[in-house]
Amino acid sequence: MNKVIIVRYSEIHLKGKNRGYFEDLLKNNIKDAIAEYGAVVEKIPGRYLITNVTDSTCKRILNKLAKIAGIFSYSVATEVDSTYEQIKEESLYQMAEKQGTFKVEVNRGDKKFKLTSMELAREIGGDILDINKNLKVDVQNPEIKLCIDLRESQKTYIFSEVLYGMGGMPVGSSGKGLLLLSGGIDSPVAGYMMAKRGVKLYALHFHSFPYTSELAREKVEELARKLTEYNGGNLTVYMVNMAKYQEAIHSYCNENYTITLLRRGMLRIAERLAKEKQIDMLITGENLGQVASQTIESIKTIENVIEDTPILRPLIAYDKSDIISVAQKIDTFTESIKPFEDCCTVFLPDSPVTKPKTYVAEAEEEKFDFNGLLDDAYREMEIVKF
Ligand code: ATP
Ligand code: MG
Repeated sequence: MNKVIIVRYSEIHLKGKNRGYFEDLLKNNIKDAIAEYGAVVEKIPGRYLITNVTDSTCKRILNKLAKIAGIFSYSVATEVDSTYEQIKEESLYQMAEKQGTFKVEVNRGDKKFKLTSMELAREIGGDILDINKNLKVDVQNPEIKLCIDLRESQKTYIFSEVLYGMGGMPVGSSGKGLLLLSGGIDSPVAGYMMAKRGVKLYALHFHSFPYTSELAREKVEELARKLTEYNGGNLTVYMVNMAKYQEAIHSYCNENYTITLLRRGMLRIAERLAKEKQIDMLITGENLGQVASQTIESIKTIENVIEDTPILRPLIAYDKSDIISVAQKIDTFTESIKPFEDCCTVFLPDSPVTKPKTYVAEAEEEKFDFNGLLDDAYREMEIVKF
């Protein structure tokens, strides 16, 4: 008797002709994620089978599976030889302590087995009722489903529990995205949501050292580390120092436009980096109406600097409480609320403009050598790999 894990994928079945590509990609993502545990991943019709699972690696593999985009659900199953005796023994073992209503569901991939699916389900169901008086059959709406999956390989997989994965599409199937990662609550959630839709993430963080502290940086590094788990086990973070650029804005420009100008600078750098690294899209945690820089006029004036790179804002219509729920689920919340200065809180104006105009922003930028300063910041960019 061996322990195995059956993994079912989510939307890949919708993929028609490209299905094979998605199936292979997800298989590789699973393999990479659990490589250290010595288990074997194979594709079987409509699902994957993980074998070579031991009692000590099982739990750890399950934890990894929970964070792989594209997985719908998975079950720990016991593998037995396809004989009535072995199937019965394992079924009784799994159902001995259960109570409530149940049903036996048989999938007979092995057409040579002497009983039909219906007959086997009925026999095993009867055997279970004989030994456990706390169970009742309900074929319509059972609380427990004992699944018996007879494979052509003469092996049978038996399980009664289903765990749900994160859904979505395999990371790498929807292109590459450059996540503008602050230390806040929203941007890690935005990154998670796009990874879930199959985007391979890269991150760009702007700081303002020495105005922002070493602790602020460690916080972002910790958030990046958490995101690696959803991003195929790694994440490259580009770190750019905006201090000189911010000083210039502070010295030369209309104070109310500070945030608008900073954001325009950030997006210029982001697009330049995306183009250089052949990243397909920018991703932000922006949310309509949440703060002054997130009115529609502000979003328009800020994104006006972008030439032709799409900006995805998965949280645009979320309520803060919904964003927080996701942050808690992915375990970034506690890190995000640590109170360290962010470059956006340095030189903060008393009354930021809520309806900035593009022509005003452009006129403000004429007042200093913004291109030169952005070039310097870009050239001094640091790369940190997680
Ligand atoms: P967050 O919680 O993600 O910081 P927020 O509610 O604080 O978002 P803003 O400060 O307006 O909102 O930032 C909007 C988006 O701009 C962020 O979600 C992030 O994608 C990007 N951004 C803001 N500050 C930075 C930064 N220092 N580095 C990289 N990206 C940033
Ligand atoms: Mg923020």
